[in-house]
Amino acid sequence: MRPSLLNPLFASASGLKGIGPKFDNALVRLLRPNAGHGATARLIDLLFHLPTGTVDRRRRCRIAELPGEGIVTIEVTVGRHRPQPRRAPRAPYRIDCFDQTGTLSLVYFNAHADQLRRLLPEGETRFVSGRVEWYGGSPQIMHPDHVVTPAAFERMPLVEPLYPLSAGVPGRVLARAVASALDQMPALPEWQDPAWLAARGWPSLREALLAIHRPAQPDSAGSQSPARLRLAYDELLANQLALALVRAHMRRKGGRAIVGDGRLARRILAALPYRLTRAQAIAIDEIRAGLAAPQRMIRLLQGDVGSGKTVVALLAMAACAEAGCQAAMMAPTDILARQHFEGLKPLALASGITLDLLTGRDKGQGREDILERLASGRTTIAIGTHAMFQESVGFHDLGLAVIDEQHRFGVHQRLALQAKAGQGANLLVMTATPIPRTLALTLYGDMDVSRLTEKPAGRQPVDTRTMPLERLGEVVDRLAAAIAQGGRAYWVCPLVEESELVDEAAAVERHAALVARFGDRVGLVHGRMKGDDKDAVMRRFQSGDIAILVSTTVIEVGVDVPDATIMIVENAERFGLAQLHQLRGRVGRGPGRSACVLIYKGPLGDTAKARLSIMRETEDGFRIAEEDLRLRGSGEVLGTRQAGMPAFRLADLAEHGELLSAARDDVELVLARDPKLASRRGEALRHLLYLFERDEAIRLLSAG
Ligand code: ADP
Ligand code: MG
Repeated sequence: MRPSLLNPLFASASGLKGIGPKFDNALVRLLRPNAGHGATARLIDLLFHLPTGTVDRRRRCRIAELPGEGIVTIEVTVGRHRPQPRRAPRAPYRIDCFDQTGTLSLVYFNAHADQLRRLLPEGETRFVSGRVEWYGGSPQIMHPDHVVTPAAFERMPLVEPLYPLSAGVPGRVLARAVASALDQMPALPEWQDPAWLAARGWPSLREALLAIHRPAQPDSAGSQSPARLRLAYDELLANQLALALVRAHMRRKGGRAIVGDGRLARRILAALPYRLTRAQAIAIDEIRAGLAAPQRMIRLLQGDVGSGKTVVALLAMAACAEAGCQAAMMAPTDILARQHFEGLKPLALASGITLDLLTGRDKGQGREDILERLASGRTTIAIGTHAMFQESVGFHDLGLAVIDEQHRFGVHQRLALQAKAGQGANLLVMTATPIPRTLALTLYGDMDVSRLTEKPAGRQPVDTRTMPLERLGEVVDRLAAAIAQGGRAYWVCPLVEESELVDEAAAVERHAALVARFGDRVGLVHGRMKGDDKDAVMRRFQSGDIAILVSTTVIEVGVDVPDATIMIVENAERFGLAQLHQLRGRVGRGPGRSACVLIYKGPLGDTAKARLSIMRETEDGFRIAEEDLRLRGSGEVLGTRQAGMPAFRLADLAEHGELLSAARDDVELVLARDPKLASRRGEALRHLLYLFERDEAIRLLSAG
């Protein structure tokens, strides 16, 4: 249960003073764009809606000293009203104001005379703030931002926060809403270590929010201001604490030593047509040591696309087989699961390991049989999609769950899977997304990490070119020449919208155009095709029967056809860097020369231009990931569609990334001393988790 102290913050903003119900929907769109249907904007959303800058109204002067431009605040006596002449209704309404040094007009278009007379009664003193302009040598302010009485001026902030807005929410409404939210902010217990706050010179949460929403100085809300740093740190701490709790929970559950004797692994190695890279050998040693340790292993295997993660997973699973328990490997798509299954089958056969495949496609008796084999333990290694972790699937004794290409799973799916796999099994998560260290921390917390830092020997660099769409004809001609010599190519069609249907249409169209030229040597796969049909096409591509495989991004991950040497990406400007890198990783796997052609539709924006040129420059996945982070800003890091990254509301990893490791260390200390969060600081930290809606983690504290 959320501590009652926090309830006011999670109350709906719609009852707030100063904003009518007519803004409800627009506020939700602005403040919680990703919340589901029926969500409301809450006070906390207002408070966490941080200004992007400030307007400085502190410049005060007399009329004779007015500057050439800029925002000023000035005390005037209201003079004559000069309504627009009747014959020129579009002319402005002017009000002459003066002080001892000169005259200034206030200018209004489309004015309501009676409103202006109430606002600016002749002969009275008013404080006016707005942007000064010069018109025919005389100063004027058009539509002043503020016109207030001397009494009201006493209370008027001279530094004004500037909020990101969206259609339907006027700035003044938002400012009023935030102001009332601030007034209702409860005092919360301090969860940060006082010594740390003092050393950093950071304010309390309340003071921080006040400093940001009611800045005394234009820079009191800057991204490196103590107030912003405090908030960013709060959020990162909540993130790290939640992850650490999940991890501690998973470690508590289960944990056993799985010690293989290496007998099956040796047979697999003997059956491999290649030797392991050094990086693979090290990773396998690390994983086997992790399995052999009595604590539960939770490990991330990070390896760039093509670095050979699959065989590492197999050898890890073989350790389980040696020790007499089961292992399961989960892939994000049917195609991938099937490909892993086909690829691993000969190796499993050679070593005498029983292998099964279970996807959502298995129905009826076939499925029952597989389930029976899993439940009885007759199958040692299971390959599948997330169907494998449904309620009805039970393992005899699952020792290791491998999750492949995890970046394809959304955050929620991932947590669910980890929980499911979490009934005591060790966990190996494989990802090709070369996430930078900072991001890895926010995603996985303190997981153990093994990295495949080199690619198998003999790989040739991929010749990467960019081509404007106008030269599509040339690309097709060259493709024809390559195919005549036995080449095989992927042709990936753009991600037009977040809609499979639209993507599909583009792929279908391109497929038809290529069929017109290359006949039945062209195949098509897209996300909505029936599983068996997809398989058939993939098999024909694998065998070389099909030379050109047109697809939507379904082939983005994991597909492994070493004979394919050409990757063509259409509308490459629409893909993210990480995605382009993934796609390119499909080629350059065999000994032959490979090429990647990025076809773009101009004119290119700066970001797209930068992305394409980075693709030409480097194949280094880590460098690409760093550039991606830089180009995108962490607000939309890697894109949810690809990565399921946590979205931070207050922290900006590009700005505050270095606070992350401090937060991690902090969490480690706290949990070492107070694993149940029962101390005073622990109690306060629970508030923090609720505040950032990471309270899932709190449930784990009491759950065993
Ligand atoms: P990823 O890390 O992208 O999942 P895969 O496991 O699909 O990579 O491996 C890519 C290709 O490299 C596969 O064809 C695989 O058989 C091959 N491969 C893996 N390890 C080696 C190695 N040590 N030497 C040569 N080829 C390898
Ligand atoms: Mg893979």
